[in-house]
Amino acid sequence: MTRRLSYPLPIFVAFRWLAMLLFLLPGHALAVIDVGTLRGELNLSPHVLLLEDRAREFDIEQLLSHGDTLGWESSPQETLNFSFSDAAWWVQLRVENDTAADVRRLLELAMPLHDYLDGYVVGPQGEILRQWQTGNRRNFDSRPVVHRTFVLPIHVPAGESRQVFLRLDTHDGLYDATPLYLMDDASFLAKAQRELMAFSLYFGALLALLIYNLLLYLATRERPLLHYVVYLGTFFILMFSTRGFAFQYWWPDMPTFNNQMVPLNIGLFAVTLAIFSDSYLNLRLHAPRLTRGLYGLAGLCMVSALPALFGHYAPVFHLMIPGAILLSCLLLGVAAWRSLCGDTLARIYLVAWCVLLVGITLYFLRVAGVLPYNIVTEYAVQVGSGIEFLLLSLGLAWKINQFKNEKLAAERATLDLQRSLNERLEGEVAQRTRELENANRQLTTMARTDPLTGLLNRRQFQELVEDELNRRRRSGQPLLFAVMDIDDFKLYNDTYGHHAGDEVLMRVSTLLLDHFRRAGDRLFRLGGEEFGLLLAVDSLEAGQLALEQYREALQQLRIPHEASTHGVITASFGLVACQGCAAVRDVETLYRLADKAMYEAKASDRNRVVTCSMVGKA
Ligand code: GH3
Ligand code: MG
Ligand code: MG
Repeated sequence: MTRRLSYPLPIFVAFRWLAMLLFLLPGHALAVIDVGTLRGELNLSPHVLLLEDRAREFDIEQLLSHGDTLGWESSPQETLNFSFSDAAWWVQLRVENDTAADVRRLLELAMPLHDYLDGYVVGPQGEILRQWQTGNRRNFDSRPVVHRTFVLPIHVPAGESRQVFLRLDTHDGLYDATPLYLMDDASFLAKAQRELMAFSLYFGALLALLIYNLLLYLATRERPLLHYVVYLGTFFILMFSTRGFAFQYWWPDMPTFNNQMVPLNIGLFAVTLAIFSDSYLNLRLHAPRLTRGLYGLAGLCMVSALPALFGHYAPVFHLMIPGAILLSCLLLGVAAWRSLCGDTLARIYLVAWCVLLVGITLYFLRVAGVLPYNIVTEYAVQVGSGIEFLLLSLGLAWKINQFKNEKLAAERATLDLQRSLNERLEGEVAQRTRELENANRQLTTMARTDPLTGLLNRRQFQELVEDELNRRRRSGQPLLFAVMDIDDFKLYNDTYGHHAGDEVLMRVSTLLLDHFRRAGDRLFRLGGEEFGLLLAVDSLEAGQLALEQYREALQQLRIPHEASTHGVITASFGLVACQGCAAVRDVETLYRLADKAMYEAKASDRNRVVTCSMVGKA
């Protein structure tokens, strides 16, 4: 029935067939077991006779009446194992008590999932003294001793012997390894306590891992943790069922359901294993096709378990065992491949699986009789799977730490990017601002200056001279202003062309800038070939001197002007000086005074300075 699959990795199949081959070697001597002095646990398998009841035709009465004529065989196996078999199997053993005291011994069939077990104790005259009908397919209370395995109490009075017959049968032809032991009460108690302690530790550890990872999942919402919890949960229930605890504690009156649970649980385990491995190893990313194959095999295991719902068990395992083997090989292969690619998680996964495999191998080597029964071989699967889940949990912690680091790195990179973008943006804004300020400065300058000569324009003349007038009025200091006009400039243009005229305007301006360089000097182009000069001097004489020097210098430039009476470019100047400036109301008045003086110069053959002093006229 179901028990073959009670072991997750069916390497077991190989050992089972090996055991079957060994089993074919015959022999039929029934040794008598001295139970009076028996201490500890005795493995019964080598001491019993077996009878295969192919047609299921015998009952205990027939066996007793036919005696030894039925072809009883002895078994060379360390552990009885009938594998797939449609027959019922009878087991016979003889015990005797040579001591002077009655003894009670316990016969244990240490396989919680065995379907049907009928036990008979027969006295010296062939009378049936006790009998039991129990097994995993019968209610739990059919067991004479409340225990997860089947324990039959055999009483042997002082000096007497007893024959014990066991009839082993299955629901639909699937046996599992059937270890048989005989022991005294004290040994059974010690063994039961040892087992319970070991299993409590084991299931407690699994439960602790499960709860811890569940809480971790609730806190972090990392999906691989949830997958691990479901995977571990399924494995927990599977182990709890196959070890007989689920039937004993959870559903003792539901033998049918108990038997359906195991294959369905194995199918579910395969599916959760596939989901967990996928998310743990990131398989969908690395090998999408393999992942589909993985889910296909897991699905096959799940679907192949469904006939168990309708009472079919042996066929379930015909399909499920190859599926599970393939699934295991595929997972190991993928884990090995990812490990070679340098994936740390895959290495942890591989080690975890190998530890479990070692455990399973040790266990089945013991079941097959290759290794002796001891604490290591008995609990190898538990130890292996416990370590496996612990390692996987560590791997998950590592994975989540990696997630966290990657997230941190990404956040840091985003922050750096933001910072550099901000800096670039700030740089660009500063650059644009500078450009804008320059443009503004240029615009302001352009608005204030004359484009041809670079001197201040007429509007500036209006503003600056007005300010200056107001200041001088307050301070009482003198103000000197001159108007300069190039002589016969129209004739020059006519003679040399307008372009040459512009050249002259520029040279005249450059010379002005060279001569009048004091901080308070202001030079204006008032229009055409007429200029205004605000002089930073404090007397009419000083102003006149400065203008004379300039007039002289201009003449010395010797810019040819053949139409002029002077033969070169010259200019006429009208200079006005006002003290206190009370008589000069506004800029216009000042300009007119200077212009008037300049025209006087024009009238006096040009190329001269005429002054006008407003001192004292206030
Ligand atoms: P006067 O000695 O009496 O000042 O005679 P003038 O010919 O200099 O005076 P007038 O006012 O008759 O002529 C001024 C000339 O200046 C007329 C115009 O052709 C010239 N002019 C005015 N602005 C510019 C300019 O920007 N470039 C050039 N090339 N010539 C200009
Ligand atoms: Mg003029
Ligand atoms: Mg002129």
